Amino acid sequence: MQFNKINKFPKQIDNEIKRNISKVIKHNRFIMGPEVQELEAKLKGLIGAKFCLGVSSGTDALLISLMALGVKKGDEIIVPSFSWISTASVIKLLDAKPIFIDIENETCNIDIKKLSKAITKKTKGIIFTSLFGNVPDVDKINKIAKNHKLFVIEDGAQSFGAKYKSGYSCNLTTIGCTSFFPSKPLGAYGDAGAIFTNNKNLFKKMRAIRIHGQIKRHKHDLLGLNGRIDTIQCAVLLAKIKCFKNELNLRKKKYNYYKTFFLKNKFKNLSIVEYEKFGKSAFAQFCLLTKKRNFLIKKFKTNNIPYAIYYPKTMDQQKLFGLKNYNKNFISINSSKQIISIPFSPYISKKEQDKVLNVFIKYKKYL
Ligand SMILES: *Cc1c(COP(=O)(O)O)cnc(C)c1O
Repeated sequence: MQFNKINKFPKQIDNEIKRNISKVIKHNRFIMGPEVQELEAKLKGLIGAKFCLGVSSGTDALLISLMALGVKKGDEIIVPSFSWISTASVIKLLDAKPIFIDIENETCNIDIKKLSKAITKKTKGIIFTSLFGNVPDVDKINKIAKNHKLFVIEDGAQSFGAKYKSGYSCNLTTIGCTSFFPSKPLGAYGDAGAIFTNNKNLFKKMRAIRIHGQIKRHKHDLLGLNGRIDTIQCAVLLAKIKCFKNELNLRKKKYNYYKTFFLKNKFKNLSIVEYEKFGKSAFAQFCLLTKKRNFLIKKFKTNNIPYAIYYPKTMDQQKLFGLKNYNKNFISINSSKQIISIPFSPYISKKEQDKVLNVFIKYKKYL
């Protein structure tokens, strides 16, 4: 059994990916070929954003966003302490300071109640993650940000395709960033990402920063980087985007199958992370919280069930930030000790799901 069937999709999509890649090899415009703009138009159309930029990765999407917003040494940016490392490392890359706040227990997303207290004179903005494909209560975050004149970036690396009320993830804040890392809901065949905004000025800046701060050829007005999206990745994504909506529906179906099981069979030491509290999820993972994680892992190993842990450490526990007082975000630390993801993909079969669930049935009295 695979943890995530990233190499499986309908035959006609597979054929189209191959045709699209051959086209790029034929036209030879490997850097910023026509597929880049074509993909950007499709992506922004899907979520109703005014501007989209394809970039080299989700991490670079965040970095380019912060650079365009003028984040500099000493600025404070508030982040949840429980996310993939990029959410905070990009802040440190610019010599600014990530301020880690706790998450809520049920959703593992940023605890909005902790936001206002973390704001100081040095605060410039907030980056929140839509973890596992679930968007937090953005209206509340935006309101606090507006009152303090802060920017808001959604790290939507796991949530492209998700919805909050009537809006789409990545189009809810000053800037929205996503990733097309192969295992994300919309995955490429390598590294890739995208940035969305409705602000023309920011768009122009980010467009320049993406290509060495270049305004036009050999005119570098801004400090930039090589953050371009690869044309071949765009060719792959242009094909995969055709089954994306269907895949989101399949994800929901497979998610519900697991969820129904866990709600019906009450386990003493186990809960499922709450999804879809404020809208539609992109169902990036299926996550459980359990005090019996070590026991469960042992049983998964003997039964050949793959699993993953997102994330075994909170970001502020990571050495790179050099913090000593990271132990204040209790819920994040607790979640890092209890969380586990079980095999999940739009194409997981019922038989495979049952095989996973059988482990839970077999050892129910210990779980
Ligand atoms: C994957 C991920 C990123 C980084 O995306 P890359 O494309 O791998 O650079 C950033 N934030 C979160 C929450 C992620 O899950």
